[in-house]
Amino acid sequence: MGKVIAIDGPSGAGKGTIAKLLAGKLGFSYLDTGALYRAVALALREKGIKPEDSDEKIAGALKGIGIAFKDGKVFLKENSQLPDGRDVSEEIRTTEMGHYSSVFSARKVVRDFLLDIQRDASRHSDLVAEGRDMTTVVFPDAWKKFYLDASVEERAKRRYLQLKEKGISATESDARKDVVERDARDSGRDIAPLRKADDAVLIDSSAMTIDEVLENIMKVVRAGH
Ligand code: C5P
Repeated sequence: MGKVIAIDGPSGAGKGTIAKLLAGKLGFSYLDTGALYRAVALALREKGIKPEDSDEKIAGALKGIGIAFKDGKVFLKENSQLPDGRDVSEEIRTTEMGHYSSVFSARKVVRDFLLDIQRDASRHSDLVAEGRDMTTVVFPDAWKKFYLDASVEERAKRRYLQLKEKGISATESDARKDVVERDARDSGRDIAPLRKADDAVLIDSSAMTIDEVLENIMKVVRAGH
């Protein structure tokens, strides 16, 4: 098992940007677990699965889904002639897939399906993993734990700019709704809700630059072995 730096936090807190930069700086691999939940949601929707479907039906659909995260991209292996599978990294970024990933991720059957895939990522390399339950459920014994937060205004603004940058059409109010609704669902669910682990270092990035957040994290990383 490699060393794991686990980062949790709500949508738009900057986890992806920070985790990617941190991984590059330290020479660790990077795992975006939100991308895995989004890819599962896309695959389930393509199979015609609805949020209200039974656990049995969802479990049956998950059986045929092969999923992989490689070099910052996420692939679905099912029905693909390509050796790595179909690259769905762009398709999963819409607010619609954000919504479905949040809805399906509240189901135990979906979380169980992704558990081993996430843990496997740390088997052969050091890892920076970001999501909602990295510090609490997936890597409770992580080497370093962080909870990255920011005000709802700041997170809505960041999400809006992110969607615009990706060429996804959305208004500022769509972005705010996306952030607020998903946070309420992700924090309010029974299984693996988003919460700060007692031993995670809290960083509020509302008034910080990316470099300042990174520097704060690096201070903690440098401090211990
Ligand atoms: O991080 P991102 O916003 O792409 O995640 C999409 C959704 O996937 C989240 O709103 C959340 O419902 C779910 N998720 C989760 N656990 C994780 C990562 C993401 O439930 N570790």
